[in-house]
Amino acid sequence: MSKRAYNFNAGPAALPLEVLERAQAEFVDYQGTGMSIMEMSHRGAVYEGVHNEASSRLLNLLGNPEGYKVLFLQGGASTQFAMAPMNFLTEGKTAGYVKSGSWASKAIKEAKLIGNTFIAASSEENKYMSMPDVSNLVLPENTAYLHLTSNETIEGTQFHEFPDTGNIPLIADMSSDILCRPFDLTKFGLVYAGAQKNLGPSGVTVVLAREELLQNSPSHIPTVLRYDTHAENNSLYNTPPSFAIYMVNQVLKWIEEQGSLDGIEKKNREKANLLYNAIDESSGFFRGCVDATSRSTMNVTFRLGSEELEKQFIKESEKEGFVGLKGHRSVGGLRASIYNAVPYESIKALVDFMSQFQKSHG
Ligand SMILES: *Cc1c(COP(=O)(O)O)cnc(C)c1O
Repeated sequence: MSKRAYNFNAGPAALPLEVLERAQAEFVDYQGTGMSIMEMSHRGAVYEGVHNEASSRLLNLLGNPEGYKVLFLQGGASTQFAMAPMNFLTEGKTAGYVKSGSWASKAIKEAKLIGNTFIAASSEENKYMSMPDVSNLVLPENTAYLHLTSNETIEGTQFHEFPDTGNIPLIADMSSDILCRPFDLTKFGLVYAGAQKNLGPSGVTVVLAREELLQNSPSHIPTVLRYDTHAENNSLYNTPPSFAIYMVNQVLKWIEEQGSLDGIEKKNREKANLLYNAIDESSGFFRGCVDATSRSTMNVTFRLGSEELEKQFIKESEKEGFVGLKGHRSVGGLRASIYNAVPYESIKALVDFMSQFQKSHG
């Protein structure tokens, strides 16, 4: 078998090797049908079986809370930035946003095109090096929803607790940390995530929503951008990204095999601890970017003493088979994305490389 890279890409990102191999085995002839899953009608029983299995696996991993539905949509999380306000931010209402970093800011920009918004909490003053405090939010009565970003992929921060918004629906962009740990879906009105970080390949966006929320979209919203269209048609209103959904189903099955979300969380904690400890114990040679209380278990951002040294680090790391360690172009520095599918061994190899690098450049 060919050698696998130490893949720390931010998204699209590493997929579990077992998933890729299973998909490969079924690629040409899906379970004796003589066709690839992507050559089949999305209205046929075989594809629909996969589609429904993905949806029920996902709800099952979250404890099958009553009244929730899974939607498989297209257009990425970026389309959800617009679709959520289009469907929920109606006349006379305002939407609260937690401004925690780059992705939250993009969501806010879109919502402002649709209606009234306010910033319910922000960590802009701290240059987004921490998550805002959301423990005592004051939300006006006409708040349509509160939106937050559970994990800021670019800055490397993550919420470790979610606010209780009472009757006001809580909407979360969980693109970069969905299913990295158990969470109580019933706290949320709607959760969305582009699949390409923690769920599968790019091309599908997973939405989890409280069904009763999906029924009141204003009548002027185009059909394909209405949540009710997709909810009423089991995400088969138009052709779904069938191969991407098949892959999501495979990833969900793999998560079950890892001990479900409890098992995944334990592994993620071990992986993140290994890397953060290496940073913290480097006597300042490596420096974590964000406040310790807001550190992400998915995207670990860190810096070296100079940009020169960072460039050198990236160059040497690439020679050793490490991929994707360059920080996002908007913030610089270094970033290791260690999503569910990144094996412990990759992080061990990174930590060893970091120690070597410090010895030769420290
Ligand atoms: C990657 C990412 C997005 C954008 O996702 P697309 O599917 O490319 O639109 C949005 N939010 C967060 C938190 C992300 O990590």
